[in-house]
Amino acid sequence: MFAAEVLKYLTGTGRLLTDCLLTLDALTMEFRKTTLSRRDDCAVCGSRPSVTTLAITEPETCLMGRGPLSSHG
Ligand SMILES: [Zn+2]
Repeated sequence: MFAAEVLKYLTGTGRLLTDCLLTLDALTMEFRKTTLSRRDDCAVCGSRPSVTTLAITEPETCLMGRGPLSSHG
């Protein structure tokens, strides 16, 4: 599906799945297309987005045992 979207985009043909979510139920092999709309208060697509990168953050880890305030031996 993604390759078809890329080909359509590159060749300027067909209709792109813009503002849509295409899902496949593998048990029945049925596709379903859902139209999505923007939400003004959304952190990603809203008018003032706070999420603007795809940065991956490291999971929080226990900081005990590191540094001078450590109570671990
Ligand atoms: Zn959004």
